[in-house]
Amino acid sequence: MYLEVRNLVKYYGEEENKVKVLKGIDCSVEKGQICVLLGPSGSGKSTLLNIIGGIEELDEGEIFVDGKEIGHMNSKELSLYRRNNLGFVFQFYNLVPNLSVKENIEVCEYLSKAPLDIDDLIKTLGLWEHKDKFPNQLSGGQQQRCAIGRALVKNPGILLCDEPTGALDYATSKEILELIEKVNKKYNNTIIIVTHNDAIKNMAHKIMKLHDGKVIKEYENKNIVPAK
Ligand code: ADP
Ligand code: ADP
Repeated sequence: MYLEVRNLVKYYGEEENKVKVLKGIDCSVEKGQICVLLGPSGSGKSTLLNIIGGIEELDEGEIFVDGKEIGHMNSKELSLYRRNNLGFVFQFYNLVPNLSVKENIEVCEYLSKAPLDIDDLIKTLGLWEHKDKFPNQLSGGQQQRCAIGRALVKNPGILLCDEPTGALDYATSKEILELIEKVNKKYNNTIIIVTHNDAIKNMAHKIMKLHDGKVIKEYENKNIVPAK
């Protein structure tokens, strides 16, 4: 899916305590691109990601997903939008502790009319020999692989990742980024990643830098071409 954000404005707080945290964001992400959002803490990255993901409301502006405006939908429409189009990955994996790897992924399968083949997905994630283990038997990196599988199983048009390597060491972070690159090539999902991890610049098709609620830099990495 492709995405276009126009003059997006977001405030937090009320009346005299009102703070403008997104100050007119314009940006676009093409179908199949990996886009990375960089910028200091507090610059508005998570807020932007959450608004694109339909889990926070915007105050002004428009968001088009495959040409359809989603910024002014009611909560029922938004919930359908999320269910049909989005996968979320967070810093902390939020797996269900008493379900196995395979079961954690299966619980999201029913949400889709066209889910991915679970066994093939688990192999792609590199979790085949761990598929019957529970989250507390897995390393952080393995848990994040499972969380990525859960987000991907319904084959969403857009995958949103908020600090997916934030709790992992350098080597494991690299593996997770490589996995994201691999699934992007295999499933062609449009992927947006909020991160502090500079290593990601080498695999992102598009890099956007936020500062104080504004996009201060936006460029494409010409060396890599999106899957389609
Ligand atoms: P980043 O992801 O770049 O660290 P955030 O989007 O989390 O930035 O936050 C942007 C600004 O909005 C910060 O100043 C933060 O404190 C503020 N903020 C974020 N969420 C809320 C909220 N729910 N209520 C009030 N202020 C918030
Ligand atoms: P991140 O590093 O991912 O940006 P934050 O620590 O900024 O995470 O925010 C974590 C959560 O807390 C987010 O859901 C954000 O909306 C909320 N939040 C951030 N700042 C504030 C704030 N000043 N008041 C209320 N909620 C906030």
